[in-house]
Amino acid sequence: MKIAVSACLLGHDCKYNGSNNRSQKVLDYIEGHEVIPVCPEVTGGLSTPRIPVELKDGRAINRNREDVTEFFYRGIELTMEKLADQNIDLAILQPRSPSCGCKQIYDGSFTKTLINGKGMFAQALSDAGIPLMDGDDVPEK
Ligand code: SF4
Repeated sequence: MKIAVSACLLGHDCKYNGSNNRSQKVLDYIEGHEVIPVCPEVTGGLSTPRIPVELKDGRAINRNREDVTEFFYRGIELTMEKLADQNIDLAILQPRSPSCGCKQIYDGSFTKTLINGKGMFAQALSDAGIPLMDGDDVPEK
């Protein structure tokens, strides 16, 4: 399989706080497959570390109430271009992210309140017909 994976799950230090979400379960699962790391927020021009973002009314707003939606759009556009001719079979994505979350995201209040929904990048992948798997749901090998 050819699998796009949130780069932070692979151990890349691209998370908002400058760290990562390295998951041994994900690394075991993708072993032997062709892997394409993706991080739409960094690709879109946001720095690392960066101020955390939540989605509100279809916009990406950081904790300082700055609208960074255009960075999100740019990152999605560039990443989708990169993936366009790759025939991706699956995307494994970091849970709860405003970009990569594919089941739940935070509600925009910065109170750690989760709602059902997708991050903006996950939605774009889904719209393109690419199956999504939440990093938490990856089966143990
Ligand atoms: S945009 Fe996605 S890949 Fe990048 S740090 Fe956030 S969750 Fe990880």
